[in-house]
Amino acid sequence: MGTMTQTSESQHRPRSLSGIQATSDSLHLGNYIGALQQFVEQQETHDAFFFIANMHAITVEQDPVELRERTLRTAAQFIASGLDPEKSTIFIQSHVPQTTQLGWVLECTASLGEAQRMTQFKDKAAKNEHISLGLLTYPALMAADILLYQANVVPVGEDQRQHLELTRNLAGRFNQRYGQTFTVPEPGILKQTAKIYDLQDPGAKMSKSAANPAGRIDVLDEPKALTKKFKSAVTDNDTVIAYDPETKPGVSNLLTIYSSFSGEPIESIVAQFEGKMYGHLKVALAELAVESLTPVRERTHELLDDPAELERILHAGADRAEAIARRTIEDVYARVGFLSR
Ligand code: ATP
Ligand code: MG
Repeated sequence: MGTMTQTSESQHRPRSLSGIQATSDSLHLGNYIGALQQFVEQQETHDAFFFIANMHAITVEQDPVELRERTLRTAAQFIASGLDPEKSTIFIQSHVPQTTQLGWVLECTASLGEAQRMTQFKDKAAKNEHISLGLLTYPALMAADILLYQANVVPVGEDQRQHLELTRNLAGRFNQRYGQTFTVPEPGILKQTAKIYDLQDPGAKMSKSAANPAGRIDVLDEPKALTKKFKSAVTDNDTVIAYDPETKPGVSNLLTIYSSFSGEPIESIVAQFEGKMYGHLKVALAELAVESLTPVRERTHELLDDPAELERILHAGADRAEAIARRTIEDVYARVGFLSR
């Protein structure tokens, strides 16, 4: 790792940055297909920065012991899924203190109305008894995560589109008021995989915070549990295997997942299952998922057996991330009129 240099080659690439919250023991297929798979691809073509969002996690109540454990588990799953610490800068959000420094400036750039319009705030506020102020201001902290690194593209799922739009607006507003400071980032949202749905409730996105875990496939699920969940997935009223997210959301979701694992286009999967029953598709999908996820699960557990090595990777990642963050915050502080110490 000491030999890992941000080569001049990677510095000329567009920068990709994204994060995943440390809010569960395992990532689910929405995180894996909607976000992590894109991270793995982009580390080959971009100057790549991926972090574990432990600060976002505490917008809702977390147990400290669990949060620490989940932070490492999330990092292990990043690497087990194919993120290479030699190619990607992998770090923990709270290791870069400039995040909150910029977060404050952006809270003062955003308006209360903007924050209150965020649908994720409304959804999560409805689900939680205690609504923290951080749950409301979280999109400004997310904007700070992105703008601090001058990211060009942010690979995320569809549910983050609104927050990214706010980030773009805040960057533009700041640039207009204080002069060119931030790169305005593009959302990296892939049409087909941007929203993986809950297997029990194909109208809702698969989510870590969903009430019913039966609808969520976890990356670290044991084969038996995983197979059971696929087999009991809610499908649609007729019996035809066809792709139509509007009228057949359940089967269409299964086809999307199948296609992501097999790498085949959806039409050819539909052709293979012509005349077959939903049960055939579910069993084949479960086998495919077990085959794809078993190495990820095994590698995650290996990595977790050696936390010192993981911590070393995260430490090196934080150093690289902070070097960039420091430059941005110096510029920002000077522009808003903070005297240097
Ligand atoms: P929580 O319910 O706690 O918000 P989450 O499941 O939404 O958890 P996050 O850590 O908030 O997970 O999101 C990490 C990344 O995964 C984001 O880029 C998000 O857009 C993406 N993502 C989350 N759920 C899905 C989904 N169902 N389909 C596609 N992408 C998703
Ligand atoms: Mg989320």
